[in-house]
Amino acid sequence: MIRWLVAMLFAANLAAAQVAVDPERTSISDGWWTLEVAVGLDQITPYRVFTLDEPRRLIIDVEGASFGDLDASTLLSGDRAAAVRFGPLRPGWSRMVVDLAEPLMIAQASMTAVGDGVDLTIVLERATPESFAANAGAPPDPGWDVITGFDPKVAQELAQSEDFVVVIDPGHGGIDSGAVRGGIKESDLMLLMATELAVMLKAQDGVQAVLTRDQDIFVPLSARMTLAREVSADLLISLHADALEEDDARGAAVYTLSVGGGSAAAQRSVERHERGDLLAGVDLDAADDRIATALMDLARAETGPEARRIADALVASMQGQGVLLNSNPRREGQFTVLTAADFPSILIEAGFLSNAQDRAVLATPEGRARIARAIRDTVVLLAR
Ligand SMILES: [Zn+2]
Repeated sequence: MIRWLVAMLFAANLAAAQVAVDPERTSISDGWWTLEVAVGLDQITPYRVFTLDEPRRLIIDVEGASFGDLDASTLLSGDRAAAVRFGPLRPGWSRMVVDLAEPLMIAQASMTAVGDGVDLTIVLERATPESFAANAGAPPDPGWDVITGFDPKVAQELAQSEDFVVVIDPGHGGIDSGAVRGGIKESDLMLLMATELAVMLKAQDGVQAVLTRDQDIFVPLSARMTLAREVSADLLISLHADALEEDDARGAAVYTLSVGGGSAAAQRSVERHERGDLLAGVDLDAADDRIATALMDLARAETGPEARRIADALVASMQGQGVLLNSNPRREGQFTVLTAADFPSILIEAGFLSNAQDRAVLATPEGRARIARAIRDTVVLLAR
């Protein structure tokens, strides 16, 4: 059995190549005792293959490839794979996640020449739940989950600057699109809002703004926090837009970290916004619960009251700008991005993508600008 496989090529000219994926040669099918995954590529390229437990998934990362031409509904045949999704992961890399219906371990993974291209073939064999669990886990690569698109020099300059540094965190991205309603992806809309907000904030004296992602890539929650810490953030603002099954919920709301467990509704909202790490195959086992709890305690004591004051001021400011607020605009929840102890953080629900009117407002520059102006006015007061 293979625990994981990382095939890297150390040729600079290959690393930046655009790799075409052939849908005709790409399939996920049951063998007699196996699950067989084939990805048809037009050239050899670096890749990583591994499995994750709880839930059981096969993860395939391919450099330079876009899975955009694949159709998830026709890729699967057989019963051993339950679902598949794919999308951009980080700059230059795409990921495919195959949900496994039973414990299956990687028996073979290889790239072989086929005509003008290559086939990446992965064969998985049945395993016991115990052996699957023992062999699951991402390859040890400390640099992998760290954002690579961000210039360390810029981070250092921001960390040393006297300015008020706002980290804007557009929710989701890449393989994790967040809510999708009426043709609008939460990940795209939040990136647009974040970009517009950054322009507005940077125009203020003594204010700097930086984004946790500036393109359609997947950034794990932990990496977003790491970036905020690297630039010595004075405030982190995470941007989301929720979607519910029913379409009557409307309006913007501002979350801070809940002091207690938070309401059941808030917990469901956290799950909706944070399942991306799970969907995208982030190895959550790597997180240290003990440290997380200690950080939460600190957050409550030090940055908690400050974040709550900022959130209250922002809600008032949004009202002044004519932003339609939710009937319960000040909320609390246990969002990962709100747990930092070294800077205050808030999470803004810009509106509900499940509501057609909210969607229409957020689709216009003026609708987004109202929220951005409210944030700007709140930040300017803080930066003084
Ligand atoms: Zn979200």
